[in-house]
Amino acid sequence: MSGGDNLEFEIRPNPAPVSDAERNTLLANPGFGRIFTDHMVTIRYADGKGWYEPRVEARAPIPMDPASAVLHYAQEIFEGLKAYTLPDGGIAMFRPDANANRFAQSAQRMAMPQLPGETFLQSLREIITIDRDWLPPGDEGSLYLRPFAYASEVFLGVRPSMEYLYLVIASPVGPYFSGGVKPVSVWVTPDYTRAAPGGTGAAKCGGNYAAGLSAQAEAIENGCDQVVYLDAVERKYIDELGGMNVVFVLDDGTLVTPPLTGTILPGITRDSIIKLAERDGRKVEERPVSLEEWRSGATSGRIREAFACGTAAVITPIGAVKSADGEFVVADGGTGSVTTSLRKQLVDIQRGRASDPFGWVH
Ligand code: PMP
Repeated sequence: MSGGDNLEFEIRPNPAPVSDAERNTLLANPGFGRIFTDHMVTIRYADGKGWYEPRVEARAPIPMDPASAVLHYAQEIFEGLKAYTLPDGGIAMFRPDANANRFAQSAQRMAMPQLPGETFLQSLREIITIDRDWLPPGDEGSLYLRPFAYASEVFLGVRPSMEYLYLVIASPVGPYFSGGVKPVSVWVTPDYTRAAPGGTGAAKCGGNYAAGLSAQAEAIENGCDQVVYLDAVERKYIDELGGMNVVFVLDDGTLVTPPLTGTILPGITRDSIIKLAERDGRKVEERPVSLEEWRSGATSGRIREAFACGTAAVITPIGAVKSADGEFVVADGGTGSVTTSLRKQLVDIQRGRASDPFGWVH
């Protein structure tokens, strides 16, 4: 860790914030990732100096030299989490400390300096405080927070940058599923893999997502919503979706999910579901699941339900599974009862409607 643990943020309020009337119009139909709040957080880093100049300032374009290292070698990491309004009017985040830890792990994998966890949390509190009027009204929307950091040194050599910029921007988002939770269809890509052993699969780095765009396009061409990746070695086992982890529900109620062996992102939703299920006395197996096991299990009834999980959509049932060898359907293509129950338990804790035995809500 570099830099001090207790940085004092300089607050420079936006001199020309969006008017109340315009903001309310934007908040009436925010969509996802299209509108942004009035401010951003910035912290600089330089080798030998550590983290410095922590600021909250007007959100604005960032000047960038064409030789900035990130533009050439993609040394960049990010996080994604939500803040939302509680029934008592307070504002909460769900497990932001877990995002701080994952951000530090991603930094380590990408040879970047680690931002102290307390500074990460403080940066989130700063932007929520100054932009709290941007939280969508009602108990469905949220303020999506996007902390990220990139290599800002002006240098074309291939080595870790000696300078970085950390930022947080915030985007109000509506309910992910406006018409209620609908099962998604998924395409098992025969052509592309996401992450090989020893690669960057467990890091949340931009390059992983750039590499997934062709696979996602292939899924859409095949009439599916999302892409499923198989492991890169045997092309046999389910890794994860483009932006969500996968969980299977067996006929005896056991949950099965691929293990964290370095090729999938360690999802915070995945971890929360495992803890909730274990608390309920449910058996949870973290082990490889082959496409063949999924196909035969869905047909025989051994695999009753399958769902995808992540911050954006929380828990989404998987209906149809399409691959080069044909198509099959899980749980009659509908939403299973275990999926529904876990989703409700998790959302109720997040929204402050149920007790929070794990201390997840900050
Ligand atoms: N896998 C990938 C590739 C993702 O991008 C995400 C979203 N961050 C997830 C899984 C789910 O992670 P989380 O539950 O922390 O949002």
